[in-house]
Amino acid sequence: MTALEVWSIPLRTRFRGLEVREGALVVGEAGVGEWSPFLEYDARVAEPWLRCADEAAAGDWPDPVREQVPVNVTVPATDPEHAAAIVRAGGCATAKVKVAEAGQTLADDEARVAAVREALGPGGAVRVDANGGWSVEEAVRAVAVLDRAAGGLEYVEQPCASVEDLAAVRRRVDVPVAADESIRRAADPYRVRDLEAADVAVLKVQPLGGVRACLRIAEDIGLPVVVSSALESSVGIAAGVALAAALPELPYACGLATVQLLTADVVTEPLLPVDGFLPVRRPVLDPDALRAVAATPARRAAWEARLVEVRALQDAVRQDRRP
Ligand SMILES: [Mg+2]
Repeated sequence: MTALEVWSIPLRTRFRGLEVREGALVVGEAGVGEWSPFLEYDARVAEPWLRCADEAAAGDWPDPVREQVPVNVTVPATDPEHAAAIVRAGGCATAKVKVAEAGQTLADDEARVAAVREALGPGGAVRVDANGGWSVEEAVRAVAVLDRAAGGLEYVEQPCASVEDLAAVRRRVDVPVAADESIRRAADPYRVRDLEAADVAVLKVQPLGGVRACLRIAEDIGLPVVVSSALESSVGIAAGVALAAALPELPYACGLATVQLLTADVVTEPLLPVDGFLPVRRPVLDPDALRAVAATPARRAAWEARLVEVRALQDAVRQDRRP
């Protein structure tokens, strides 16, 4: 038997057009899982997110092969001084710098990346994330400029929007290319592999159906994986950490240091980075914290209705598969 808890937590700053993040927790016999598909997602898109929660609630995570997971600090498209301050406060050896922001120039990106390198020191790794904001030509030019400003970029994440364009950029630059937005559904990583569009795959456990599903994908595609968050509470982040902890190889820092973007949490010990690492542990719900962020009865009812819809979809798929 499982129970559903629904939370609603304000964000520290607007993100993805959101001021409040809402999600549900599936509480099972052996654990707790987060189910927090964004509100605009229909049942079909939200379904793999529920499989991820069910896996966690069943306590069905693979054994970890490491005790902690390195994470990056994320630097928004801000001015160089602010960027440097974020890196110094973050305490991480890897920084991900947002670039290609609408309304900004390549010179803005260049100054920000240079400031981040300066703040990080020569030993750290600098990666940039364009969120699909460049054309192929813009990407080729920008990567050369930013690679120089960084004194060597670790990789460039999602330089262009389409997988075809990622592949084109990858053939023209020396910096490794990572696919993020190009990987959202289970079939996507295989397409990225088949088109040789990336050197690194960014995987998120909820949209891809859970920790074990992602492990299988990682094995199939044969690319190094960076585990990233979907702006979850520490319960959801713990699933990402479980994947990062179980991967046979983890050559890059993960994008899992996002709990601090929320103003509250639901566990006894939030998954906040210490010296650039997150500990590998199973989440323990804090009843008082959960009560403090409990959604209104109306929102709770909306999530319960959503759950019924997704469960019905899962039942229909199971019926179909029956011989
Ligand atoms: Mg990204």
